Amino acid sequence: SLPIIYAITPTYSRPVQKAELTRLANTFRQVSGLHWILVEDSAQTTELVSRFLAGAGVRATHLHVPTPRRYKRGGLPRATEQRNAGLTWLRQQYQAQVQLSYRLNSAPAAPQQLPNVSGVVFFADDDNTYSLELFQEMRTTRKVSVWPVGLVGGRRYERPVVENGKVVGWYTGWRADRPFAIDMAGFAVSLQVILSSPKALFKRRGSQPGMQESDFLKQITKVEELEPKASNCTKVLVWHTRTEKVNLANEPKHPPDTIKIE
Ligand code: UDP
Ligand code: MN
Repeated sequence: SLPIIYAITPTYSRPVQKAELTRLANTFRQVSGLHWILVEDSAQTTELVSRFLAGAGVRATHLHVPTPRRYKRGGLPRATEQRNAGLTWLRQQYQAQVQLSYRLNSAPAAPQQLPNVSGVVFFADDDNTYSLELFQEMRTTRKVSVWPVGLVGGRRYERPVVENGKVVGWYTGWRADRPFAIDMAGFAVSLQVILSSPKALFKRRGSQPGMQESDFLKQITKVEELEPKASNCTKVLVWHTRTEKVNLANEPKHPPDTIKIE
C-alpha cells in the first residue's frame, strides 16, 4: 500500500489565510494517502480553520501552539513550535507501534534501528506552490530525499548539485556554507527516520535565521545519504511563492458590513 504522506503545515491568522488554505487544500485533495497536519500558531484552535478543515475533503489533524511573544519579530525563524508540534503528534501516534516493533526484533533497541512503519513527512508552508508530481517523487523516500525549490534564495531556484546519483554540493545564492543549504520545501523525511530519532526537532536556541533546515537535517542524516529526487534534482516541482501583503486601506473603520463574513 502507498506510504502515507504527512504534510505538516504551520499557519497563522491574517487576511489571506483562508485563501492560502483553500489553495493548499485544492492541491492536497488530489494526492491520495495524504494526511494533513495543520498546526495553528494560536493559543486555541480557531473557528475559521476548524470549519475550513471540516469541509476541505482532506484527511487532517488540527493542532495548535502559540509562538511565544518574544519570538514574534522579524529576523527570527518562523513556525518552529508549530513544526515541532506536528513531529511530536506523529511520534505519539506511532509510539506503541515503535515499541512493539523494537521488542519483536529481539535485539536490544538500538537508536539506529528502524521501526517497521511506512510513511513520509514533509514540511508544507501554507503559501508555497506544490505540483502534484512532487508528491509522487517524495513518496519513495527511504530516509531523507531532496529536490530543487523555485523562487528562493534570491535566485530563480536553488538545487542540490548531484554527481553519480549523490548530492555533492548546493547551487544557492545564499550562505552556501550551510551544511544543508536547502529550503524547508526542498526535502522529505521517512517516518522511520522521524520515529527512530525521537529527539530531532527544530531549534530556536542557537539557530540563526535560515539555519533551521540545516540544524534539523544534521540531527538525522548526512549529506552523502541524501536521496536526490526530481530527475537528479534537475526539475523544479515546488515554488517558494510568497503572497503579497493585502491592501485593506479602504476597510470601513466603524460601521462594518451589515453581515459578518469570515
Ligand atoms: N507562520 C506561522 N506564524 C508566524 C509566521 C508564519 O505559523 O508568525 C507560518 C506560515 O503560515 C507559513 C510558515 O510559517 O506556513 C512560514 O512562514 P512564511 O511563509 O511567512 O515564511 P517565508 O515565506 O518567509 O519563509
Ligand atoms: Mn512562505
